Amino acid sequence: MVLPVVKYGHPALRQKGARIPQVTDETRQFVADMFETMRHAHGVGLAAQQVGRALQLAVIDVRGVTDRPSQLWIDGHPASVDAFMPLVLINPTVTPVGARVRGPEGCLSFPEIYGDVERQGEVEVTAWNERGEEYRFKAGGLLARAVQHEIDHLNGILFIDRMDSATRADVRPDVEALLAETKARMAKK
Ligand code: ZN
Repeated sequence: MVLPVVKYGHPALRQKGARIPQVTDETRQFVADMFETMRHAHGVGLAAQQVGRALQLAVIDVRGVTDRPSQLWIDGHPASVDAFMPLVLINPTVTPVGARVRGPEGCLSFPEIYGDVERQGEVEVTAWNERGEEYRFKAGGLLARAVQHEIDHLNGILFIDRMDSATRADVRPDVEALLAETKARMAKK
């Protein structure tokens, strides 16, 4: 089922997600709906907050992006990114590795708004999959950026919070217009 994606201004986007104590059939159905919603919106990642649920759960699939490479290491060895996709991140923790890099980002909760964000170039991640099993990996490139963007969502942090002041000033008119639109839509309900 494709779920409605909430836009900037919706309070769910500022909520820290609750830890998922146990992966159940209901969790797995939610994961399936999250993937369907992300693909329908042509996104590379989606966090539970973006469909109005404050949970520690996000999905990622970078296979559709060919112009921005990703890197993956498992147990210290390079591994195939495509074979590792799609990713379910339940209760994830992230450890920064390496240098920080600037790169462009967008967000399904900020349609048509793009800006550069500085992130760690590589991250080590521990999370549960949809079977409730813990797994670990190290990501670089676009995958590292996507993981950091989604885990920020799980803590109520948005990509505009991570922009430098010049970039934030560039996007401010569009962000304010989106905020007004969201508030107007919510007032109608
Ligand atoms: Zn986002």
